Amino acid sequence: MNAVNLLGLDGQALEQLLQSLGERPFRARQLKRWIHRHGAADFESMSDLARSLREKLSGHALIAAPGVISHRTAPDATQKWLLSVGGKDAVEAVYIPEPDRATLCISTQAGCAVNCVFCSTGKQGFSRNLATAEIVGQLWLAEHSLRRADAVGVGAPVRAERVISNVVLMGMGEPLQNYDAVVPALRLMLDDDAYGLSRRRVTLSTAGMVPQIDRLAQDCPVALAVSLHAPDDALRDTLVPLNRKYPLRELMAACRRYLRSAPRDFITFEYVMLDGVNDSDAHARALVRLVGDLPCKFNLIPFNPFPGATVRRSPPQRIQEFAARLAAAGIVTTIRRTRGDQIEAACGQLAGAVDDRTGIADRGPDHRARPVPLRVAP
Ligand code: SAH
Ligand code: SF4
Repeated sequence: MNAVNLLGLDGQALEQLLQSLGERPFRARQLKRWIHRHGAADFESMSDLARSLREKLSGHALIAAPGVISHRTAPDATQKWLLSVGGKDAVEAVYIPEPDRATLCISTQAGCAVNCVFCSTGKQGFSRNLATAEIVGQLWLAEHSLRRADAVGVGAPVRAERVISNVVLMGMGEPLQNYDAVVPALRLMLDDDAYGLSRRRVTLSTAGMVPQIDRLAQDCPVALAVSLHAPDDALRDTLVPLNRKYPLRELMAACRRYLRSAPRDFITFEYVMLDGVNDSDAHARALVRLVGDLPCKFNLIPFNPFPGATVRRSPPQRIQEFAARLAAAGIVTTIRRTRGDQIEAACGQLAGAVDDRTGIADRGPDHRARPVPLRVAP
């Protein structure tokens, strides 16, 4: 029997494993605490578990995060890990500290099958779904290595409080095309015995998988970001090919349904700003009509170019004007700002050296950076 990676087991799955080993299911709580709260990587250190259980676990299970290929810190304190997920596949996790929160952006697939025109991950194809252990492993690795890094001096206590306060599923891949692995990962992020994050502080970003948006509302509602990018089907069909399967009318209806169980009372729409493609005043007006009275916020993302891209970034002035139009219609609108760009190129080169299909090299400097409030003249 292959050893099972405990990073991939949510509470229920851990209980089942323990039962299959002839153990009491309530031990799952202790195990989760050791693994996710304390960052234990071996069973020997789990001092309040019976030796017999520790021995059984050593024989059947392991705790293993993806291997670190590289780790960089930018002058603005953004940190990036390039992680090996087997074969030639590598994914990236990005840590973005801010005064009031600390966000980790994680990946859910190696590559992506959606193939959006402006996304180099999509352009470079789909390799495979990440397993739950590989998704949770990004958080486990970042959280516990950040805590250890905070322990200054030999023998200093490792920081006990949580470092990461927010998680966004906005790295590589379409999370709702890897639904069965993503949902248990979300459950562990929310579990008080694991990471204990609030549902409002875990955001899943999707290109618009309508049936899975409905399932998520039932199975594990978290904050939802929808990558909109166009106000009408004709344009969105060309930018986000998934639109041909789930057109805007269906997507907007799914957003409304989601709000009934969502932890936040609005949907975030992401909108990549493409010069001369989707950035005119007419597009802004059409967007205002499209969303109507749906409670939402817009996050405008200046396009990050990559070699071979067929689109360009809108000029800053155009982005400001577009944002002002949405804001004037009463829609809270932010523009994403650049963070961590000084290390992005280096990370990207490494990603390219590992496997071109990761596309990490080419996503550009700021696609995951934090939004800044738009200042519109009163
Ligand atoms: N697949 C999901 C989540 C990952 S992509 C989704 O599409 O929502 C996270 C965000 O980055 C999406 O809003 C996506 O549109 C945006 N993005 C992708 N490529 C980009 C680029 N080259 N420049 C700016 N934003 C980009
Ligand atoms: Fe996939 Fe999102 Fe990139 Fe589109 S933008 S190709 S859905 S990762």
